[in-house]
Amino acid sequence: MISKPRYTPEEEDRMIDDAFQDVLKGYLASNHRKKVEIINRAYQFAREAHKGIRRRSGEPYILHPIAVAKIASQEIGLGSTSICASLLHDVVEDTDYTVEDIRNNFGDKIASIVDGLTKISGGLLGDQASIQAENFRKLLLTMAEDIRVILIKMADRLHNMRTLGSMAPHKQFKIAGETLYVYAPLAHRLGLYAIKTELEDLAFKYEHPQAYERVKSQIIASEEERNRLYTNFSAPIIKRLHEKGIEFEAVNRVKSVFSVWRKMELKQIPFEEVYDIYAMRIIFRCEPKIEVEKTICYDIYNTITSFYHPHPERTRDWIVNPKANGYQALHVTAMGPDGVWVEVQIRSERMDDIAERGFAAHWKYKNGEGEEEPELNNWIKTIQDILKNPEPNALDFLDTIKLNLFSSEIVVFTRDGDMLNLPKGSSVLDFAFNIHTNIGATCIAAKVNHKLVPLGHKLNSGDQVEILTSKTQTPKEEWANDMVTARGKTRLRSALKKQRHIIVENGRKIYRDFLVDNDLPASPEITSRIIRDLKARNREDLYYQLGANKIAFSEEYVKRIKSTPSLFTRIFGSLGGGKTPSNKELSRQKDEAEATKINTKEVYVLHRGNTSSESNFRLSDCCHPIPGDDVLGFIDDNGQVVIHDQTCPHAQRLKATRGSSIVATRWEEETSKDFLADIHVEGIDRIGILHQIIGIISQDMSFNMKRLNIESDNEVFRCDLTLLVNNAKIVVNLCDKLKKIDGVKIANRVS
Ligand code: MN
Repeated sequence: MISKPRYTPEEEDRMIDDAFQDVLKGYLASNHRKKVEIINRAYQFAREAHKGIRRRSGEPYILHPIAVAKIASQEIGLGSTSICASLLHDVVEDTDYTVEDIRNNFGDKIASIVDGLTKISGGLLGDQASIQAENFRKLLLTMAEDIRVILIKMADRLHNMRTLGSMAPHKQFKIAGETLYVYAPLAHRLGLYAIKTELEDLAFKYEHPQAYERVKSQIIASEEERNRLYTNFSAPIIKRLHEKGIEFEAVNRVKSVFSVWRKMELKQIPFEEVYDIYAMRIIFRCEPKIEVEKTICYDIYNTITSFYHPHPERTRDWIVNPKANGYQALHVTAMGPDGVWVEVQIRSERMDDIAERGFAAHWKYKNGEGEEEPELNNWIKTIQDILKNPEPNALDFLDTIKLNLFSSEIVVFTRDGDMLNLPKGSSVLDFAFNIHTNIGATCIAAKVNHKLVPLGHKLNSGDQVEILTSKTQTPKEEWANDMVTARGKTRLRSALKKQRHIIVENGRKIYRDFLVDNDLPASPEITSRIIRDLKARNREDLYYQLGANKIAFSEEYVKRIKSTPSLFTRIFGSLGGGKTPSNKELSRQKDEAEATKINTKEVYVLHRGNTSSESNFRLSDCCHPIPGDDVLGFIDDNGQVVIHDQTCPHAQRLKATRGSSIVATRWEEETSKDFLADIHVEGIDRIGILHQIIGIISQDMSFNMKRLNIESDNEVFRCDLTLLVNNAKIVVNLCDKLKKIDGVKIANRVS
């Protein structure tokens, strides 16, 4: 039921105009460009469009968009485009006007923001979780297009929460729940601290009215005692800072009702035991330059610690390492004269502004340079990354995003000292994938603070992380279990997809070769028979399993499939049955015959084919020679030439005992095939040395690493690696290069 208007039409008109003038006044006092004309037009347009419509509370509808514009301008710090979009934000949703009408009157930018706001106006929490996820996705998508959409949505939500009392009760729950679930964390992530706190408190008030009243009254009841403690603690500091001539303001900052309650719930403690219910906040005035601000921050810190002992683990320097949402301040917790820990937050005016109003406040200090906030951009980029890779499961998607919204952060460093913000619980894999998809996909281990750790190792704030990669490493599905970052997981998924594609292509080739080698036609009958026999799900799966070496064609199987009459009478019937040996078969028999007649008086040319059966020699198991090595051949009992290194003890013995079977050999000129070479590297451990070694192997020369084993024992490290190389000379070159690395003492090929 809609209550009756309490004012005369004239009074109402005046009220509306006053409210709008208030918005204009605030805008004119800001340092945005003064574009009053368009704001006036937007106001007239919206007023006309919503004419005669009232909110449930009975007040004229237009007061809502005006209030939203005021919040956007004065509490978030946005300019004329956003003020216009705020004034017009419900026009398309609630009246007959279209986005086109807005575009024709106010241009593209404002129209697209209004369009975005209209798209997400339906609310996020549908009846089903999947709808909710989809709406959330839509919200983030719109946000990634223009951040102002979400900022105005935030203002809209804040005004709706402030006026929630007049909404229908069933809507109150829905809106309050949604606010706590999505909007408050988003506000936090956007650095809109004041709005986040207010949203939480308002939502809490509607969701748990009794708990809200109880905690609120406890905070009020304890005020006197709290003020006494605060005065005792702060008086000497304030006096000293005045003597030093620092211009500042000190406030007794009390925790919000919601955060006190949450702490009580989380830690299961009574109100009296929430020790950090208040904090001292010192906001000083100075030139908004980081160097000046830093000096004053530390000066104030020194003043505080000259009176009180700081808690060794509770000094937080958010100046050098700002939070991802842009928060900067210096926090110190000190033992006060009454024997309680008191937190002091030291901020410049600029930092305080950013802390309370978020990144929009940055603009105030940037003199229209138009430079955007890098941390926020990073975050939006993450969202865009995720959105670009549509998840089949919308709920997983929601979880990953929410995980990123809620988790607190750690700060870690790259080998070169670059900083990276990651959510708590991030692993080496998160780190690697956040740096680059390729680094993540080829990551084999890491050194954290110079110690070798596995991929799933969880990182802590302050860790220095160095990723070890290998060209032969491939991304693994199960890595996702060890990861928490949305961006990392998304990148892993796209790496897996790429990897799968390569494997499938490889498998397709294997399959084609198999058909050709066995004179089988590439017919659908054969393919579906093979898919069935090998228990693959479909053709792609068959290729994948072949490519990944999960299945292979055994000789028995080849025989079996060739002797299946139903398949072959039909296909080969006209050729006179399947008994005749194929051309391939004939040529192999001829090869074998030749192999038994090797002329030991001539130099035998070593030729390596695509598979071991196509090679005219076999590598010995004892010394693993590679092309370019000085080798000799030994004709074994099967007539096959087995290659040994000249220095191999086995070869020495063979020369002595079975000299007539020895054949001189020469490597065929063009060897494109790869051989395995084992290399041992040893040296004095220092930061970055393994990185350098692996860098030379994987980048400077095109080797393919098969195996890497690193042991580190205090100052000494030992590294054994197996490479795929195509001749011995490059291994010598490589070892020479490795020996030039500072700290490397040994770099040799081993057999
Ligand atoms: Mn609205």
